[in-house]
Amino acid sequence: MTELRLLALYPEQMNIYADRGNIVFLRRRCEWRGIGFEYAAAGPGERFEPGSHDLIYLGGGQDRDQRAVAADMVETKREALGTALADGAAVLAVCGGYQLLGHSYQLGEERLEGLGLVDLETVRKPGPRLIGNVAIEADLGSGKRTVAGFENHGGRTYLGSGEQPFGRVIKGFGNNGEDGLEGVKEGNLIGTYLHGPLLPKNAWLADHLIATALERRYGTRPDLEPLNDSLELAAHESARAAALD
Ligand code: GLN
Repeated sequence: MTELRLLALYPEQMNIYADRGNIVFLRRRCEWRGIGFEYAAAGPGERFEPGSHDLIYLGGGQDRDQRAVAADMVETKREALGTALADGAAVLAVCGGYQLLGHSYQLGEERLEGLGLVDLETVRKPGPRLIGNVAIEADLGSGKRTVAGFENHGGRTYLGSGEQPFGRVIKGFGNNGEDGLEGVKEGNLIGTYLHGPLLPKNAWLADHLIATALERRYGTRPDLEPLNDSLELAAHESARAAALD
């Protein structure tokens, strides 16, 4: 039986806005198609086998949560995550998790070291948190699509010159409120500030991740059976309208 193997990193600690709910959505979309779904988690102090997971998920967190996991993540996950990425595993990291993929998160005098797997840095600057509904335009290889969601972050993220964003901001702040870029995309890794029910609001993105993970495991990209997405499309439309109207 075809099976998707998902690994959640720090699902207890990094779950602000119920980011973990995205995993339930991935599971359902697999099960509705008769695709097996194997869930594994790696929390504080736990290591993982990079070849045993095809989709790795890391949610967002408050500064306090990030402080609690950052050093442990570097120590116990960096090497395996780097190997999994180099071997084509799909990775989705949201907000606080996205920030920790980079070199560092600077909060005033304090510097949280990140995984350094992606060339980006995050800094706190004077000014309000970047909060609100967002719409971005992203192209993951099948043409331009709108991704709609919600952001709430104090950190401003800046991509290194060789990095590509996940998308371009149509409405909202994105990485820093200045350069019009949102998130990062490197190989099969996506980092984004879009929180909470990101995947239920953007079902095509969930299917993109599922197809990428299955391709990594089985060698060919599957043609995923279409599902009845009337509710998901309504959720997308509502989130898009909240940002744009
Ligand atoms: N603590 C980080 C910030 O404020 C990330 C917040 C989040 O994950 N919502 O920038």
